[in-house]
Amino acid sequence: MSVNETLFQRAQITTPGGVNSPVRAFRSVGGTPRFIKKALGPHFWDADDKQYIDYIGSWGPAILGHAHPEVIAAVQYAATQGLSFGAPTEAEILMAEEICKLVPSIEQVRLVSSGTEATMSALRLARGATKRDKIIKFEGCYHGHADSLLVKAGSGLLTFGNPTSSGVPADFTKHTLVLNYNDCEQLENAFEEFGDEIACVIVEPVAGNMNLIKATEEFLHSMRRLCTAHGSILIFDEVMCGFRVALGGAQSIYNITPDLTALGKVIGGGLPVAAFGGKAEIMAHLAPLGGVYQAGTLSGNPVAVAAGLTTLKLIQAPDFYSHLSKQTQKLVDGLNNLAKELQIDFCADAIGGMFGIYFCKEVPVSFDQVMRADADMFKRFFHEMLELGIYLAPSAFEAGFVSAQHSDSVIETTINAARVALRKINM
Ligand SMILES: *Cc1c(COP(=O)(O)O)cnc(C)c1O
Repeated sequence: MSVNETLFQRAQITTPGGVNSPVRAFRSVGGTPRFIKKALGPHFWDADDKQYIDYIGSWGPAILGHAHPEVIAAVQYAATQGLSFGAPTEAEILMAEEICKLVPSIEQVRLVSSGTEATMSALRLARGATKRDKIIKFEGCYHGHADSLLVKAGSGLLTFGNPTSSGVPADFTKHTLVLNYNDCEQLENAFEEFGDEIACVIVEPVAGNMNLIKATEEFLHSMRRLCTAHGSILIFDEVMCGFRVALGGAQSIYNITPDLTALGKVIGGGLPVAAFGGKAEIMAHLAPLGGVYQAGTLSGNPVAVAAGLTTLKLIQAPDFYSHLSKQTQKLVDGLNNLAKELQIDFCADAIGGMFGIYFCKEVPVSFDQVMRADADMFKRFFHEMLELGIYLAPSAFEAGFVSAQHSDSVIETTINAARVALRKINM
């Protein structure tokens, strides 16, 4: 038995399913999860000492490549000064200043420890500030695991949602309206019917949790217009795409000013930091200034903030994002060329340092289209690639991530492996 298999068996004795977050369990692709021992640059190594080129990058945070020496040094220094105080620090001010500078729609920000906390708190804040209960989300967007966001569309058109997780009372989701991503007409209709009762719309402006799906310009701009017209708060969940698709996040690409933004992943540089922020007038509703309660023992933790702050500094290097985008595009171009060369219904797409691969003819623009891609081909491709030392997301419904350390030769190795893998699964 391999060390990975031994560890997986042992893990399942004391941890449900052997993992601390479900996608790590390889359930949707089958097989044994790899237990990671060490990571450096674009690579990591599993418990059997097999090396992989890593395309999940901790699901986004590892944008600088793993274990960047400046980030490690900052974390080591911070740790020598004490691990947690439960009282404010200057580093938190620096972190907030940096976020407000880089994302101009954020006038004030609060630090939390996970993306789930950020979106959950932004939602509560939006409801508190508008004194309304109803919210709109979109099928296929993931916003963490707060109760009122674990919802799928109801059975009828424009009916309120049903829980997607057991343990969530239907009563908690009856205020959540779930609409189709990139469907402007449905959004118009929803506002026409419920407009003045809607506290907020929450959206991933570049969706990365149903594979990669880009919002259309029209979709996001109508959303902005409708929210403004009806006094609803527009929340961009940029936990994944923030500092991933561009320095100013997806909002800088689409040129839209959301009222609130949720951040996470990259801003912690691999340690638990997330944030939500936006208009000062809305943020003033938060405790201790206002009546919306939110708190956290480890919020703004000094060691985590040291990693985040150093990461935010390093991604501001000139050409950082043009280089990252170029490397990601090279990967995607290479994969698209293979699809042509081998005549397979397969394609890839990218934005900034995020990419998607799809076993269908054309890049999907909706949740339904993603669902129609060939899941079986993906599974076989995933395992062939894993065998060849390329670690892709173990699910056809997740995006991929490239780091600044994914050099030309790393990309070339990946494309060569993909040629071998695609040939094999296409036989
Ligand atoms: C990852 C993610 C979250 C949840 O963040 P956690 O840190 O895992 O709680 C929320 N929204 C989006 C868009 C995400 O990608």
